[in-house]
Amino acid sequence: MTATACRTCGAEILLRTAERTHGLCMPCRKQEVRDDVGGTPFGQHFDRGFRDPDLGSDSYRSCWLSAKLTLAGPMWGTRETGSVESLFAGDERFPGVRDPESLKGWCLEVLRKLRACVEQHRAASPVEEADRRAIEAKATELEELVRLWHAFYVARHSSGHAAGGSAPEPK
Ligand SMILES: [Zn+2]
Repeated sequence: MTATACRTCGAEILLRTAERTHGLCMPCRKQEVRDDVGGTPFGQHFDRGFRDPDLGSDSYRSCWLSAKLTLAGPMWGTRETGSVESLFAGDERFPGVRDPESLKGWCLEVLRKLRACVEQHRAASPVEEADRRAIEAKATELEELVRLWHAFYVARHSSGHAAGGSAPEPK
């Protein structure tokens, strides 16, 4: 016998898969990890952190989008899979990143550049000034997310937590 039933939805799955997912089909396993990460402070802060601010002008929009898209890469991976191991394997998109500390530094540098980007252009109207402040508030929010991400990673990897850990995704 090479197949069994997913213990959540009953879909037929290979025993080989079941052994790696403690009895779940891949969609159910993915949802389980997503819910698990979503219940942590990192997961709860994540969706809010990446929401676009309400901008009244286009003056600082490109500063924001660039930082958001750069940071979303590594953060999204953790939100979806609970893991960031692949980032430490010499991924050329993340130069100098080899462990949680250096990834945290890399992320904070992206946010430092975001702050520098909005400081370059002096606000010429109340609308622009409001936009500048909204983006600075986002930078603060995302700095907090980076801190929560780091705490999440350290907690998962010191306690050997099973769900959302560093086990490779079954294919
Ligand atoms: Zn299932």
